[in-house]
Amino acid sequence: MVNSKSFDYIIIGNGLAGLQLALALSKESAFANKQIALIDKSSKSINDKTWSYWEKGIGKWDAIVKKSWDRALFFSSKKHLTLELKPYKYKTIQALDFYNNAKSILLENNNFHFIEDEVLTIEDQNKIVVHTNSNNYTTNHVFDSRITEDYFSSLNNYINIIQHFKGCVIRTNTPIFNSNEFTMMDYRVKDGEQTTFTYVLPFSETEALIEFTYFTTTVVEEETYDGFIKKYISETLKIDDYKILETESGSIPMTNFPFNNYSTKNITKIGTAGGWVKGSTGYSFKHTEKKVLKIIENLKQNKKPSKGLFKKRYKFYDTIFLKVLHDDNEKGEWIFEQFYAKNSIDTMFRFLDEESSLLEELKIMKSLFSRAFIQAFFKTLK
Ligand SMILES: Cc1cc2nc3c(=O)[nH]c(=O)nc-3n(C[C@H](O)[C@H](O)[C@H](O)COP(=O)(O)OP(=O)(O)OC[C@H]3O[C@@H](n4cnc5c(N)ncnc54)[C@H](O)[C@@H]3O)c2cc1C
Repeated sequence: MVNSKSFDYIIIGNGLAGLQLALALSKESAFANKQIALIDKSSKSINDKTWSYWEKGIGKWDAIVKKSWDRALFFSSKKHLTLELKPYKYKTIQALDFYNNAKSILLENNNFHFIEDEVLTIEDQNKIVVHTNSNNYTTNHVFDSRITEDYFSSLNNYINIIQHFKGCVIRTNTPIFNSNEFTMMDYRVKDGEQTTFTYVLPFSETEALIEFTYFTTTVVEEETYDGFIKKYISETLKIDDYKILETESGSIPMTNFPFNNYSTKNITKIGTAGGWVKGSTGYSFKHTEKKVLKIIENLKQNKKPSKGLFKKRYKFYDTIFLKVLHDDNEKGEWIFEQFYAKNSIDTMFRFLDEESSLLEELKIMKSLFSRAFIQAFFKTLK
């Protein structure tokens, strides 16, 4: 029960970005006296996602990691690659474990206040007022995970690919999966020439998440994903006898829309709404960790919280990649085959983590050298 209607900070959205930000604030003594509200329209009590990411060695979230792997597989119609990830590990967390863990830590601090309500508007004047369905709250700064309406109304002005998918966690009667390795991408079952693939996370010898994914401009009917998942299970994995335990669906924007322009002095857009999902991959779990630390550093130095969150050259690379995928969608399989076959894991992960050297970036570019990329490069320069 919240008595006060005035807070130092209000975080809108108890999702990945909101909770990672709140946890980081709770660990800093500089914010121990700040009153912080977290407002979400959802109670976050269902497992609505499976988050995966790669990292080296011991990580911040290891206590709630459901499973991790040292080896990844990649299949195109021509090639089968086995990728040894060491010193990296690919790790998976269930969203519900993350929500519950974060809430229990935050509730130990009496300066964090959870409010279940829908935010309608924010008034950005001398004092910021957050209007919800049932109340008005004032604050000095808002961290906002709501995606701006402009994104939806200007889809044609930017490059927009949707990473859309459905996954099923299945259980087999007999041991079938090798739980030491996961499948990053399998292009052997495809929807026509479009960039579509299957992603497999084996949790044990008898249990795995099988996800059919599109990197395309429009979504498809639920039955279409179901059909390809079924086909993959029977024709590629050769499994006839299994039970579906749960399903997961999602749609992630892969875009060059300038989400970061929507942060102001008083309102910082966070998460997907802040452009934290990497345009070329749809991954954001580890990027969120870094952006949150940068925000904390900025707050401590009295700088605009969103200052310096992005590196321009990676936005440029993402845009080139999205352009190729948008204009020549059938090239996706070739692009990823080249990417995984011609670069070391270390180079690829450092590039995707936006920590690569210029030399590593040149190597990646060389591996993707083609007419489509050259054209996209010059169109992006304009
Ligand atoms: C199914 C799925 C699987 C994904 N898997 C991965 C993965 O494996 N690895 C990876 O790196 N990324 C993954 N992503 C991408 C990305 O990491 C997630 O989308 C991530 O949850 C984004 O974080 P966020 O905080 O922006 O949004 P969310 O986690 O969705 O949180 C936003 C919150 O804001 C709340 N909210 C929205 N509007 C209002 C309002 N008006 N009032 C109050 N509250 C509001 C919502 O209820 C929600 O709780 C996945 C995405 C999806 C959809």
